[in-house]
Amino acid sequence: MAGEVRTCSSCAEKAVFVDRESGTHLCSRHLKESVETRVLARILQEGQLPGIIGVAFSGGKDSTALLAALANLKEKIPVRLIALTVDEGINGYREETISHAREVCTILGVEHRIITFSEIYGETLDEIMRTTNRKACTVCGILRRRALEVLAEKEGIRLIATGHNQDDHAQTTLMNALSADIKKVFAGSGHSTRFAHRIKPFAAVSEREASLYAILAGLFNDLPECPYAGDALRGEIRMLLNQFEQEHPGSMRNLAQAEEEIRTRLRDKVEITPLENCRICGWPGSGEICQVCSLIKKNETR
Ligand SMILES: [Zn+2]
Ligand SMILES: [Zn+2]
Repeated sequence: MAGEVRTCSSCAEKAVFVDRESGTHLCSRHLKESVETRVLARILQEGQLPGIIGVAFSGGKDSTALLAALANLKEKIPVRLIALTVDEGINGYREETISHAREVCTILGVEHRIITFSEIYGETLDEIMRTTNRKACTVCGILRRRALEVLAEKEGIRLIATGHNQDDHAQTTLMNALSADIKKVFAGSGHSTRFAHRIKPFAAVSEREASLYAILAGLFNDLPECPYAGDALRGEIRMLLNQFEQEHPGSMRNLAQAEEEIRTRLRDKVEITPLENCRICGWPGSGEICQVCSLIKKNETR
């Protein structure tokens, strides 16, 4: 294959992408179309759409690709898009990603809202990490989730689209299987009318396709990596799966589909602990004190 120039399976243009499972070659136009078709299908699955879709927008390549795809689909999905960025306060990393995020929104003509950890929690992630022994990704995940909810509520947003792609799903499926905890499949599924509904329009789009989409849209930027060490297990699984996908194309897609299948089949069989309203902040969560408050409170008592 090296050096060989192939043409698109659907037209005479030069191919920029090959689906190794099916052997389909796609030019830039047909790759864009193929990604957008899958995104549209996911969104239409939701049925009646609210007037606004909030897009969780970190400024990274996945959420940049998602925002661009949704903006490009504005004639087929005629809703108001608002990009939602959470500034965790990570020195030497966030400044650049936030300015990239602003730039992308300007280019795409999408409204942009930013909320900071400092304004909600009184501290940046960097400050919070000085007083906790928990892993940065766990702390950040919990606090970022709430920050998005706070921002969505402020803007009257009831539907949030996130940039999770097929690779993320495949990794999660394998991680859940390895921990033998089927309930994890439903982690965070507790319902509360206060939470905005979340959708993952890129669930059937691979990381390679998402990156390429951002590049083709002219919006890809080589941004710094988060300085906090990522989830070590996920990192290992990611590497393992990427390698496995090379040898056995289609494995990631199958794993990602398995996760959805398990979800659908077990939805009514797995008992989901009902949420309670937190005694401190009033937000729904599991237990009397929500995860956010127990994190922040722990910091205060130190
Ligand atoms: Zn083509
Ligand atoms: Zn709370």
